[in-house]
Amino acid sequence: MVTAALGLSLVLTERAEARRQASPLDILGIAAPRPRPAVHSANIPLKIPLPRPRPAEAPKAPDGAPAEAEGKPSPDQPSSDQPAANKPAEAAAPPEKQASACRLALTEEIAIAPSIADIRGPGACGGADLVRLEAVVLPDKRKVTVKPAAILRCTMASALADWLRKDMVPLASSLGSTIGELDNFDSFECRGRNRVAGALLSEHGKANAIDIRAIKLANGQSIGLTDRTMPREVRERVLHSVCARFSTVLGPGSDWYHEDHIHLDLAQRRNDYRICQWNVWDPLPQVAPLLPRS
Ligand SMILES: [Zn+2]
Repeated sequence: MVTAALGLSLVLTERAEARRQASPLDILGIAAPRPRPAVHSANIPLKIPLPRPRPAEAPKAPDGAPAEAEGKPSPDQPSSDQPAANKPAEAAAPPEKQASACRLALTEEIAIAPSIADIRGPGACGGADLVRLEAVVLPDKRKVTVKPAAILRCTMASALADWLRKDMVPLASSLGSTIGELDNFDSFECRGRNRVAGALLSEHGKANAIDIRAIKLANGQSIGLTDRTMPREVRERVLHSVCARFSTVLGPGSDWYHEDHIHLDLAQRRNDYRICQWNVWDPLPQVAPLLPRS
């Protein structure tokens, strides 16, 4: 009996030592194999508590790999009855998630866009990998404020940042200035298309869309996207650039709802079908046209 107990305690010590030495890569199963315990039979009862069941509430682990990483017990953590009791799972969940490729690419060199928690509901509204796009950082380090800050999926925020940095900066400089502010008319909002109750969920409800009225320049000028007093050529340049980058562009002439702003989104459709509906209206006549003789 004494010998058996001694053997068990030796195994315990050995295992504890092995755990202390385990590198973080061990979790991924790619590190060197751990030393085998000497006595297999004595080891069996110790093995059982390792794959602990996930806590019932586990609110932030919907599927796939992040859940695996999150739910896996740490090798250094002693077995305990209440694994999640002293852990603020709700608050800690977003940073623990594996960052998306988009998130990793959307650095502070490109945008000030902190991640925010996933939004679930009401209904089908919401999304994952969301950011609060506060500003786009231009190649010359100047910041374009997004006013108000826009709640968007990372991919949409990234597309918007690219568009401003690569297409709108040259446009602004051709007007003798640089971009100062993006006028965000609407971003995330849980609603049907065109605010019609019961209509199909708008891309706004998926944080995949933004409505823009104007791009304000540093010199105080403003490029009103639907402003008929803006030179037609400027508005056309904007039209061509957004239609090349976004899968949906709705502006004046598309329907009654887009006469005073441009809607941009990254809706995914079959065969990558794109919608580009924006009629760049002619400038309003300088003088009222003569009424036909009656
Ligand atoms: Zn819209």
